[in-house]
Amino acid sequence: MATFDVFVVGSGGGPSYFLKPSGSSWQDGIIALDAGSGLGALNRLLTAHPEVFAPPSDTEEDAPTTPTAAQVNSWIQCYLITHPHLDHINGLVLSAGSAKGPSKPVRGTQETLEVIADVFAGKLWPALASWTETPNAAYHLSPLLLDDDYVPVTDSISVRTFPLSHGTPPDAPTYASSAFALRHIPSSRELLFLGDVEPDAVATEPQNSALWRAAAPKIPHALSAVFIECSWPEGRADALLYGHLSPAHLADELAVLAREVVAARERAQADGGADQPRKRRRKGVSDPEVDVRGALAGLRVFITHCKDDLQGVYDRPIHEVIAGQVRELVEERELGAQIVAVEQGMLICASP
Ligand SMILES: [Zn+2]
Ligand SMILES: [Zn+2]
Repeated sequence: MATFDVFVVGSGGGPSYFLKPSGSSWQDGIIALDAGSGLGALNRLLTAHPEVFAPPSDTEEDAPTTPTAAQVNSWIQCYLITHPHLDHINGLVLSAGSAKGPSKPVRGTQETLEVIADVFAGKLWPALASWTETPNAAYHLSPLLLDDDYVPVTDSISVRTFPLSHGTPPDAPTYASSAFALRHIPSSRELLFLGDVEPDAVATEPQNSALWRAAAPKIPHALSAVFIECSWPEGRADALLYGHLSPAHLADELAVLAREVVAARERAQADGGADQPRKRRRKGVSDPEVDVRGALAGLRVFITHCKDDLQGVYDRPIHEVIAGQVRELVEERELGAQIVAVEQGMLICASP
């Protein structure tokens, strides 16, 4: 049985994902992962996919009624924001005025929330967010620390936050983004969701390998779904990545993850069989001789955030083009991961 259900409210232009534990209904509570798309997108999606959010009906005659966008929005229990770029918070900001009921927690790093607080400072937009729970605010900002802890964000889900690098503009510090490891508390199963991210090979402050090292021991039994961006198609020059991934770089990152998985399994085996003499030299993670074939079997990698093909270069949707390019590179290396193109309106049952 799947652990999480994820509905894609927006993937390319306005990344926004609704997540819930598979056993519960959307009405029981939604975690919004980024909030780039708002009520308008949700409204269109409800027309196209009325079945997704309809509550289960008791009898066949009793046809379920489709909830409104405002109703579905009201089921959001918590927002998790990877970084405060406009394409990731647009929906959060624009929906603030229509929010009903008690203020909802908006969670992210202190750095992310400070930028969001600036948006709601009363000039760019009304003061609808606060650092404390107050009756008149739509949101209250509640920071997540970048440490090893899993913090409960709902009754059944806890989150660990990892720092990511998202490009270094000229004469400016590296732009900070983050990744969330979401843990389903009852089953201890996880889903990994990355915000915008650049390759370690290009970054001034490489941070991805630490994330892969933490994730590796859980693959695939406790972690079998990773959401990661691949903004550009193949052939994009490193100097023009602007803090994002391209297929070749994403394949390299997945190869690092695969090496970490192999290393984690060797460690686990060595710990388990301490009486047996070591038969062969332990290979380091950076050792190119490490056999990574099949290391990511059972892992699904969901490709998000593909930038629109505004020049009309491709005859297929850009997310299919990019995911296809990633798939080819991952298959060439026989890493074993399944590559999935994410598109708006998709309902994903994230296993195991
Ligand atoms: Zn960004
Ligand atoms: Zn973005």
